[in-house]
Amino acid sequence: MSHNTDKITVVKGDITKITVDVIVNAANTSLLGGGGVDGAIHRAGGPEILEGCRNILAKQGGCKVGEAVITTAGKLAAKYVIHTVGPVWNGGKNHEIEKLESCYYNALRLAAENGCRSIAFPNISTGIYRFPKELAAQISIRVITQFLMADTTLTQVKIVCFDDDNFRLVNQLVMQA
Ligand code: ADP
Repeated sequence: MSHNTDKITVVKGDITKITVDVIVNAANTSLLGGGGVDGAIHRAGGPEILEGCRNILAKQGGCKVGEAVITTAGKLAAKYVIHTVGPVWNGGKNHEIEKLESCYYNALRLAAENGCRSIAFPNISTGIYRFPKELAAQISIRVITQFLMADTTLTQVKIVCFDDDNFRLVNQLVMQA
C-alpha cells in the first residue's frame, strides 16, 4: 500500500453520519437541494445549509458542473459542506470524465484552502446522474491520490459508499493503488 492510500478509507453507509471537517455534497446547478445524497444532507443539516446555498446563488448564480462551493454544515457534525455539481452521464462524449475529475479536484482544493484535515466524499454522479460506477470509482481514486501527493493539510479522505457496488469497486481500487 502506498503512502497516499494510507490516508484513504472506504466506508459503507450514510455520509450525514460521518464525523469529518467537511462533507462533500453531490448537488445540482441550482444549489437548491434535490434527491439522493443532496436531499439527505439538507434534511440532516437543517435550513442553515440551504440559507448558505441561497447566499451563493444570489452572489454568483448557482454552481457550474465541475465546480464547487462551500457552506456551513448546519446541524451536522462536520464544520462545512462543499457542494459540487457532477456531470450527467451522456455516453462520455460530453467531457463527463474531465468534469467529474474537476469535481473531486475542486472539492479537495476548497477543503485544503479552508484548513480542513478530513473530508468525506459520496460517489458523485453515480446515482440519478447515471455515471458508470467503475469509471467514476477510478476517477475518484486517481484524483484523490494525486492530490494527496502534493503538500496539503488533508490527512484523511473517507469515501462513503451508499450501495454495495460502489463499496466493492472503490475498495478494490484502493487496495490495488
Ligand atoms: P448524482 O445526481 O450526482 O448522481 P445522487 O445523490 O443521485 O447524485 O447519487 C450520488 C451517490 O450518492 C449515489 O451513489 C447514491 O447511492 C449515493 N447516496 C445517496 N444517499 C446517500 C447518503 N445518505 N450517503 C452517502 N451516499 C448517498
